[in-house]
Amino acid sequence: MKNRLDLPISEVKGIGEKLQAHLNELGLFSINDLLFYFPFRYDSYEVKPLTELAHEEKATIEGQLTSDPVVQFYGKKKSRLTMTLQVEQFAVKAVMFNRAFAKKQLSAGDTVTITGKWDQHRLQITVSNYKKGAAEDQEPIQPVYTLKESITLVTLRKVIKEALEEYLEDVREILPQDKVLSYKLPERRQAVEQMHYPKTRTMLKHSKRRFIYEEFLLFQLKMQLLRKLQRELTTGNAQNYHNDRLTEFVQSLPFELTGAQKRALSEILKDMKNPYRMNRLLQGDVGSGKTAVAAIALYASITTGRQAALMVPTEILAEQHADSLKEMFGERIRIVLLTGSVKGKRRKEILQDIKEHKADLIIGTHALIQDEVDFQQLGFVIVDEQHRFGVNQRRTLRDKGLHPDVLFMTATPIPRTLAITAFGDMDVSVIDEMPAGRKPVETYWVKGQLTEKVLAFIQKQIRLGHQAYVICPLIEESDQLDIQNAIDLYNQLAQVFEPDIIVGLMHGRLTNEEKEEVMQSFAANRVQVLVSTTVVEVGVNVPNATVMVIHDAERFGLSQLHQLRGRVGRGSEQSYCILLADPKGDVGKERMRIMTETTDGFELSEQDLKLRGPGDFFGRKQSGLPEFKVGDMVHDYRALETARQDAAQIISEGLLETSEEYRMLKQMIEKDEHISGKVLD
Ligand code: ADP
Ligand code: MG
Repeated sequence: MKNRLDLPISEVKGIGEKLQAHLNELGLFSINDLLFYFPFRYDSYEVKPLTELAHEEKATIEGQLTSDPVVQFYGKKKSRLTMTLQVEQFAVKAVMFNRAFAKKQLSAGDTVTITGKWDQHRLQITVSNYKKGAAEDQEPIQPVYTLKESITLVTLRKVIKEALEEYLEDVREILPQDKVLSYKLPERRQAVEQMHYPKTRTMLKHSKRRFIYEEFLLFQLKMQLLRKLQRELTTGNAQNYHNDRLTEFVQSLPFELTGAQKRALSEILKDMKNPYRMNRLLQGDVGSGKTAVAAIALYASITTGRQAALMVPTEILAEQHADSLKEMFGERIRIVLLTGSVKGKRRKEILQDIKEHKADLIIGTHALIQDEVDFQQLGFVIVDEQHRFGVNQRRTLRDKGLHPDVLFMTATPIPRTLAITAFGDMDVSVIDEMPAGRKPVETYWVKGQLTEKVLAFIQKQIRLGHQAYVICPLIEESDQLDIQNAIDLYNQLAQVFEPDIIVGLMHGRLTNEEKEEVMQSFAANRVQVLVSTTVVEVGVNVPNATVMVIHDAERFGLSQLHQLRGRVGRGSEQSYCILLADPKGDVGKERMRIMTETTDGFELSEQDLKLRGPGDFFGRKQSGLPEFKVGDMVHDYRALETARQDAAQIISEGLLETSEEYRMLKQMIEKDEHISGKVLD
């Protein structure tokens, strides 16, 4: 029997061709899509006593008009309507713009309900919505949906309401009964209705809870099934690396690996030897020695005669990695660097070398995955700072028919349990120990701007032979202003220090050659103070730098501050981080205080989570983490964990195959193209 919910939205009364096209733009194609297009918030038309209304916030009041509305016209089509109402014992003024026609509908003595922005000082409301009659006649909670310009809220409400009326009865339960009962979840059909038109806030809460669980459970089931399939299907992928050569290389390193590095490395090597493909995340705080582990893993693969690739987010990083890996490997392997700025003949040669397998290790930026690159026997790929790599870019590799072992590396500390649940299909290794002899960076919070004292401190460090970074004020809206700021600060600093102290400037608009030159000069200590935008955030390694000054520190997340701070403290000398910040609220002050008190990235990430709340945690959009419609991975972490365990149990007991109660769930999963078509990465 065909499911009516799969019918196109054009079946819904009132949806013509034009509206259909607009709804399609919102991603709404089937009736099912409409029913499950949940509001992102709700307008509550709950009337509260005037004393409980918040200044400048949206509010609803109910009162009686004490006189007829008065309209003033100005300009061609502009008007301002004013009326006075008696609300409780107060006279409240209501102002409405460009809706002069309302004068005809309302007159003295009428009861009206008005929603709008409340001005507590003037006892005035700026009307966005009005309705004749008492508040109790109105729908208490109204859905507000995400819109595109081509469609209005009123229209969308209308079509969804229409769809609910006609098709809600077709919504079927998909969760097994025991889960519905044990978590006390509202039944699916009722929950859909309550998501759009909740009777009470409590019912809304439970309906949301239901869909969060449903969404997470489906996600976890898919992830875990994929992983199972992947293991079953990707055989013949074992990389039997050359043990002696690997040992020789490890022994040639100028240091002994830390316990945590050894542990992570053995997890990675074990994956490589296994017949199934590796899909692993390597997490470790800045400076914990991920690169060393990465190098060894890359080498392991190369000893099998395969090619390996290292992808990084910026050209500067690619160059730095190329330099340091060339030094580590010496004559052992052939390394090429391929970035966007390698052009012309040189580029052709490199591409040819890759194609003819004259290169063992290819290091580069996103350029690496472009069509023209023709890898030979690509066996191992490392993606550094994976949150900066789009999921699509990762897919490209896959689509080119390449099935290497993949290791993602990140210095964004995500609490381990959260990472395991969040990624679902990935294994996680953590380097949670710093190489011996590191001195934690001493961190200070200075109110406001660069003071004489801070400048003197920088100069003193430079006189001791060290170097400093100064991160510019941040202007989020405008790249252009960001750069202007950097230039201004550079000009200013170039004059305050004694003349033999050279100040350098780094920002995103420099050409790659210019960036390279600046970095080289800084690395060689020809430049002592580097003024920079946040482009130095990731990976840059100049161990002689001991001071990091960060303007507008209150504007950064703790994790990002931690990344920036990680640029210093890389050598054996004591390093310092100075946060210039003028946080307004308590939370901001608290964050600065935490920065001065801990240098543990995992601790910081948890504090960040607590203080900033879920929305900001990872800089979600660019994080490469899955996005959910209803659930929030961080905020609803417990539900995610429950879903993970339930999914594991469902899969291990084979319930999807054997139990009638799980039939609907199975159908939902099979709709997923990756699983049904067994399109695996
Ligand atoms: P990450 O990539 O995690 O930020 P790196 O691998 O760049 O860290 O390591 C930072 C610095 O520490 C490098 O200079 C590296 O040579 C050094 N290093 C790495 N592992 C060790 C170790 N086990 N003992 C001492 N120094 C190490
Ligand atoms: Mg393998």
